[in-house]
Amino acid sequence: MHSNVSDGVLAPAAVAQLAAQQQVTAFALTDHDDTSGLEAAQRCAREHAVCFIPGVEISVTWQTHTIHIVGLGIDPSERQLTQGLASIRSSRDARAERIARKLTDLGITGTLDGARGYAANPSMIGRTHFARHLIKQGHARDMNAVFDRYLGQGKPGYVAHQWAALNDAVGWIRAAGGSAVLAHPGRYRMERSAMRELLREFKQVGGEAVEVITSNHSYNDSQLYANYAREFALRASRGSDFHAEDESRSLPGDLPALPSALTPVWREQPWLKL
Ligand code: AMP
Ligand code: MN
Repeated sequence: MHSNVSDGVLAPAAVAQLAAQQQVTAFALTDHDDTSGLEAAQRCAREHAVCFIPGVEISVTWQTHTIHIVGLGIDPSERQLTQGLASIRSSRDARAERIARKLTDLGITGTLDGARGYAANPSMIGRTHFARHLIKQGHARDMNAVFDRYLGQGKPGYVAHQWAALNDAVGWIRAAGGSAVLAHPGRYRMERSAMRELLREFKQVGGEAVEVITSNHSYNDSQLYANYAREFALRASRGSDFHAEDESRSLPGDLPALPSALTPVWREQPWLKL
């Protein structure tokens, strides 16, 4: 789940509260490239007797693709991780300025201030903040439309960006005692051969699991990635990727269970404290 520490809309404690309300057994807060919401979320989860998994979602550039690696069960004070995440965050501002300039070229002005208005954490401006502003201003109907028209890869407001390397991101997660999960693989537009190469490399550098059940996977995606999990001897994960109630297809806890033949990433992990 995401909080307003990155591009979710709820404060970290409110995320924990929603998880409790949805009666989930365990949830992870996995903000993009930032762990500053974990303490507040953990405190609130404890008050509601919900199992909390400290997490993060790291932006990675692999070949020509932007992919996301979720870290579960991390120690957010570990130095390699904190330094790695700080280096990623430090480039977000310049990127946001370039996105705004591209939108200005299209005749849409004022988007940097607009995006900032949606970002509770000034060091974490992302495309979702631009998207919310553009939707509010009537430039697109909803999230899908605004990425489709302006912000998605190859669209006129898109800025190519170099994120962390795959082996670095997995290395930071492992150094911090966590497990690395390939997030929402069904969202990456790559050939099957490239996906196999990614999974092979991910496994080789210490990746542990692949997200099989997640809100933007179709039934077929889930089947496909369940098969990949078996083929590459990876564990499986399940998560809502929750950002906001009016932007999500499913609420936390509402997704179907993992196929029983797969080993859940959270099984018998030292970091899981039920
Ligand atoms: P950023 O890290 O700033 O590039 O923002 C990435 C976030 O934008 C993702 O985590 C998604 O929440 C959102 N996003 C990316 N692509 C799409 C899309 N095609 N449709 C809706 N949301 C998207
Ligand atoms: Mn993601």
